[in-house]
Amino acid sequence: MLRIGNHLPSSKGYLAMAKHAEKLGANTFAFFTRNPRGGAAKAIDESDVEKFLAYTKERDIDRLVAHAPYTMNLCSVKPDIRQFGFNMLKDDLQRMEYTPNQYYNFHPGSHTGQGTETGIEQIAAALNQILTPEQSTIVLLETMTGKGSEIGGRFEELRAILDHVELQDKMGVCLDTCHVWDGGYDIVNDLDGVLEEFDKIIGLHRLYAVHLNDSMNPCGARKDRHQKLGQGHIGLEGLIQVVNHPALKGLPFILETPNEDEEYAEEIRMMREACQW
Ligand code: FE
Ligand code: FE
Ligand code: ZN
Repeated sequence: MLRIGNHLPSSKGYLAMAKHAEKLGANTFAFFTRNPRGGAAKAIDESDVEKFLAYTKERDIDRLVAHAPYTMNLCSVKPDIRQFGFNMLKDDLQRMEYTPNQYYNFHPGSHTGQGTETGIEQIAAALNQILTPEQSTIVLLETMTGKGSEIGGRFEELRAILDHVELQDKMGVCLDTCHVWDGGYDIVNDLDGVLEEFDKIIGLHRLYAVHLNDSMNPCGARKDRHQKLGQGHIGLEGLIQVVNHPALKGLPFILETPNEDEEYAEEIRMMREACQW
């Protein structure tokens, strides 16, 4: 069965998110670990986590893809911003262990003028200081559009970060369909070719999750404006190909589309119906 869900509000805690996911017909979901603009995280409520773990186990809600705050930039030219990101990443990964064996996805960062190579080194250096052999969470680098000084718009850049990280088995990649499309990878006309390239450069064994979004813009536009499934330039057929691609079978597909609950439930239902697994 297709593993699919959407990005949910986290303010009411873990059990509330699991119930919310179930209501939408989802069997996975994403959430921000704290305010998406950063800042202090709410304390973990251990009894909530306990109920959440029992609830999700019974219903096979799994492979959560937590999302780091957008303000986390491990390769800013400003040291205080790098430190702010470092602190959030470290704290978030400790919190993730309350819900073991899930994924934590982050935007690699924007080098803000330092150059891609320096950016890559700074991102990897932070990861090397924070990752531990004991952690059960897999940390995912998200594929980006490459707008501005964003790192991760090319598969080669993600590979370079991974190469610099010592604890390789704690790392992976999350492929965002809107981002790769906007970044110039034509997943509509050549999905096989794009995934072959991903495999050659990064390795498909390192792909743990997919963000399933349509795009408001044409391939290569580098804009990063998500659209509802089937209402953008990728289109429904293109997205259906993605959920049915054998190389992506079993991965969690997370919707980050501009929708209300009812529309999310409809997108989930629609993709389930179109999926052959
Ligand atoms: Fe993201
Ligand atoms: Fe995304
Ligand atoms: Zn995006």
